[in-house]
Amino acid sequence: MLALIAHDRKKSAMVAFVRRHLELFQRCRCVATGTTGAMLNQELGLSVERVAHGPEGGDLVIGGRVTTGEVRAVFFFRDPLTAQPHEPDISALMRVCDVHDIPLATNHATAEGVVAWLKTQLT
Ligand code: PGA
Repeated sequence: MLALIAHDRKKSAMVAFVRRHLELFQRCRCVATGTTGAMLNQELGLSVERVAHGPEGGDLVIGGRVTTGEVRAVFFFRDPLTAQPHEPDISALMRVCDVHDIPLATNHATAEGVVAWLKTQLT
């Protein structure tokens, strides 16, 4: 399973990124925070599982999936220029990714690298 999260000012970049790699994201089970998942499903016709909205605990739900070993990689397009009310949840998600050695892409450039790696794993 792949996890996708985008802060509000990064959502259009996330949609463009997933569109560019649509075949990969169609092949994998995906989970996303509420609004991110809704946008991906509406704009790209995906069937992404949606959990809670990020500020309402969605990052923690995805962190829980990381701890149970369900998540292969996390794509987290963060907005580094806007304070987030749920910063502790974001830190917790990043921490569990490090604890469990799960690739965590927090910007577009890294996300492209993780996709390239995933493609080598899936073929
Ligand atoms: P959202 O959450 O996809 O529900 O907007 C993302 C976030 O802001 O953490």
